[in-house]
Amino acid sequence: MFRKNVFVVIFLLISVFAFSQTQTISRPKLVVGIVVDQMRWDYLYRYYDRYGNGGFKRLLSDGFSCENTFINYLPSYTAVGHSTIYTGSVPSIHGIAGNDWIEQLTGKHMYCTEDTTVESVGVPNSMEGQMSPKNLLVTTVTDELRIATNYQSKVVGVSLKDRAAILPAGHAANAAFWLDDASGHFITSTYYMKELPDWVNQFNKQNKIEQYIKDGWNTLYPINTYVQSDSDNKIYEGKLAGESASVFPHNIKKAYEKSKGFFRPTPFGNSFTLEFATAAIDGYQLGKGPAADFLTINCASTDYVGHTFGPNSIEVEDTYLRLDQDLAKFFSMLDAKIGKDQYIVFLTADHGAAHAIGYSQQNKMPGDFYVSQIILDNLNRLLAAKFGEEKLILAGMNYQIIFDMKKINDKKLDFDAIKKSVVDYLQQQPGVNYALDVAKIGEAPIPEPIKTMIINGYNLKRSGPVQVAFNAGWLESYARTGTTHGSWNPYDTHIPLVFMGWGIRQGSSNSTLHMTDIAPTIAALLHIQMPSGCIGMPIREVMK
Ligand SMILES: [Zn+2]
Repeated sequence: MFRKNVFVVIFLLISVFAFSQTQTISRPKLVVGIVVDQMRWDYLYRYYDRYGNGGFKRLLSDGFSCENTFINYLPSYTAVGHSTIYTGSVPSIHGIAGNDWIEQLTGKHMYCTEDTTVESVGVPNSMEGQMSPKNLLVTTVTDELRIATNYQSKVVGVSLKDRAAILPAGHAANAAFWLDDASGHFITSTYYMKELPDWVNQFNKQNKIEQYIKDGWNTLYPINTYVQSDSDNKIYEGKLAGESASVFPHNIKKAYEKSKGFFRPTPFGNSFTLEFATAAIDGYQLGKGPAADFLTINCASTDYVGHTFGPNSIEVEDTYLRLDQDLAKFFSMLDAKIGKDQYIVFLTADHGAAHAIGYSQQNKMPGDFYVSQIILDNLNRLLAAKFGEEKLILAGMNYQIIFDMKKINDKKLDFDAIKKSVVDYLQQQPGVNYALDVAKIGEAPIPEPIKTMIINGYNLKRSGPVQVAFNAGWLESYARTGTTHGSWNPYDTHIPLVFMGWGIRQGSSNSTLHMTDIAPTIAALLHIQMPSGCIGMPIREVMK
């Protein structure tokens, strides 16, 4: 009898032990979000044949590719994209209505991450570090991970760009680091810490930028093998400082000596960023703690190279071939440090880019430019004649018209009549596809998905009340060399989205999905609450 009871007790203990073993929450050790700045979806395939096996091809073969993922708001800019990816929300709710905006109630200009209440850390007396996520009005999926694990999870954001480091890492981040051009160092702000960690100081001391630029920028392979790109010397390509023609080899050392910002439009900015991200994994022991950690990375140089040279340049192709090699190295490092299938990587983009205007025109595609300043000056003259007040328009920004609301209210002007005059004028301008009073969008004959994108992008306190959309291929005049982005068109809003690793199926889907679906998918995989402004849906197809 006694023996039997002992067996029963032992059995129960084993059961309880086994039960408790199977009932812990299963999570990956690390989530790595990689946002490739300005990466059009078609770059996955445009350069596919020349990618190696360890980078983009590994993502596509081992991971799950959501082939039809779209941005679902306007404008398609960097700060907005990063905010949306990590919040699953849209500017109307998350508040990041542009890289910059004008506060509608005060007329005050605001940069998305500016915060004069904090100080730079890592570079004394500089405005470069006076940054924080305080303008972001909702939580990020990275915040939700911190909350869900009672702050045992660590969250770190890395980019050359302040906004692309800060907004993904969220409000409760352990750290966000970005590049200060003047010093060539990664810096942060007192929002996160009082001084840089030792490992960041050690990294900065090595002055790696000097190493990266010393041999200039030549193509990775013989230049005549770049058959996916236009020829090298095109008038619609921009030039680096000190260059008389936009051709390889680029003397980036000389450009950098003229202006330190010229490290950014080189492929080495991505290598540098991923090298720093690797140091952050060691520095914070990411993936080694009691809870899942999250590292957000933005590879920004693809955007700077794209803006300068345009999507059909050898420079852009070379930048992606080099990024592919850097990613392969980065994934191997994650395998070694974290363990294969112990981490999730997702790769996406904050926006795409249009073809260069000159490229479109030379190849008989639609495309042209408009000059905002001329349009705005004409509008202010027209309004002054009609309503008796100068400068009723403060700016054209984010494809919106921003009015001097104080003047309009003080002088008791008829705002509806002013907006109508502006809309009527804009609708007559060459290249304007739509111009509308957003308050009357319900009556506007605008097809989906553009109508919803305007509504999603419109933040009451931060967006201008009149919206403009230009014809496909029409860009602001400053982009007569290189390119830009910001519109609703597929070239700007069709983004890559690939998940790989822990809990992820292999495969691909052509379902139409949205950028807002990324955060709830990560939240579902991690079994954590979705962010506080999230309107997206988990992508069930990617999950095992
Ligand atoms: Zn961007």
